[in-house]
Amino acid sequence: MLLRHTPKEITERSALMINPAKTCQPIGAMYAALGIHGCLPHSHGSQGCCAYHRSALTRHYKEPVSASTSSFTEGSSVFGGQANMLQAIENIFAVYNPEIIACHTTCLSETIGDDLKQIRKKALTEGKIPEGKFMISASTPSYVGSHVTGFSNMVKSMVGLAEPTGKKNGKVNIIPGWVEPADMEEIKRITKMIGVKTILFPDTSGVLNGPLSGEFKMYPDGGVTVAELQSTGDSIGTLALGEWCSADAARELDTKHKVPCQILDMPFGLKATDRFIDALRTIAGVTVPDELSMERGQLVDMISDMHQYVYHKKVALVGDPDQVIAMTEFLVSIDMCPIHIVTGTPGKAFERRIKEITKDMPFPCNVRAKGDMFLLHQWIKNDPVDLLIGNTYCKYISRDEDIPLVRWGFPILDRQGHQYFPTVGYKGALRLLEKILNVIQDRKDRDDPESKFELVL
Ligand code: SF4
Repeated sequence: MLLRHTPKEITERSALMINPAKTCQPIGAMYAALGIHGCLPHSHGSQGCCAYHRSALTRHYKEPVSASTSSFTEGSSVFGGQANMLQAIENIFAVYNPEIIACHTTCLSETIGDDLKQIRKKALTEGKIPEGKFMISASTPSYVGSHVTGFSNMVKSMVGLAEPTGKKNGKVNIIPGWVEPADMEEIKRITKMIGVKTILFPDTSGVLNGPLSGEFKMYPDGGVTVAELQSTGDSIGTLALGEWCSADAARELDTKHKVPCQILDMPFGLKATDRFIDALRTIAGVTVPDELSMERGQLVDMISDMHQYVYHKKVALVGDPDQVIAMTEFLVSIDMCPIHIVTGTPGKAFERRIKEITKDMPFPCNVRAKGDMFLLHQWIKNDPVDLLIGNTYCKYISRDEDIPLVRWGFPILDRQGHQYFPTVGYKGALRLLEKILNVIQDRKDRDDPESKFELVL
């Protein structure tokens, strides 16, 4: 077994992370940038970083991810990468002709101290950014935060494109956070059903879950347009889904352009979806359509029909803060008991939220922000669980401890479907519950003695 050396005894560590539950900032920045139509993400650093970020996204989304790099050499690593970046801007617009370049830094360019805002100004002054084309930038040093921080920083930089005209556009900005392209599609389906006009940003649907058409498109059809981003300052409000991924951008719009914002949890599970729908309904001043009430009812039906299989089952959960908070609430609401919870992203507020959600559970809950998979494994060894929920890296713990695993989160490298089937909203919660029930019932079928092996569960 691959993790057989993980000891049961837990010793306090302050400076060492083992099997991190996070990845580097630019991966998040690159994913967010791909949610703008006609955008070429640009990595200001060495080729190696860019290759890693692209391959990490490609392995999860199973789609080619194009991005350019400043290709630092020894010289730029010592003296700074401005010359490389200026040359890159010229080449990118001449060769690849994007609508917009979304540039992020890397550990190396941050350590040197390259200032992307100043480089952009110089590029503008020197006429390297053609008329009608754009460049945004985000600072994404990977030695702080995580991929979630990088995502948030790039989304915040999108807000910099807002150009209020003084006339409201009657739309609601929705910042969905780091969810799958299928989730973004589902959010759009729900808002359409309720009758709310929205600007969803970023929007990777149609970009990272597109069809195989036989025709190569450098810039797929999906994504929020630059014109829509410019219009976000005229919207009647912003719903930011997730404190870690989306709140900074929403607050920036509020502060700079007086677009009022609400920070909600990501709509995973029954209660968080209820709050999202309620916020939409209130903004639109409409009643919830019957179709949506039907979907909610189906979810409640499945929860009550199958309750006996999930009741008081112990769960270990790992992932990104916004997702894990909503998932914890969902699990507790169906009487499951998430007892070990880890995120790799820093932030004590995460631990406070989880403690609050799990306070009435019959078992105590271990929770750690800036934790790692090693700690999660040790907790599981000390207090075993019935189910593990997390990304593909959990498969090692799952195999070593013989615990059923539901793959959910980022990255999922060894299964399919996450790009196409949403887990947000009522329909998404039905799918989550189906996945949870499937592994629990498969395990029952595997472990029941012959005398108790039932055809109908
Ligand atoms: S050097 Fe920094 S930015 Fe580059 S891949 Fe490593 S952690 Fe990410």
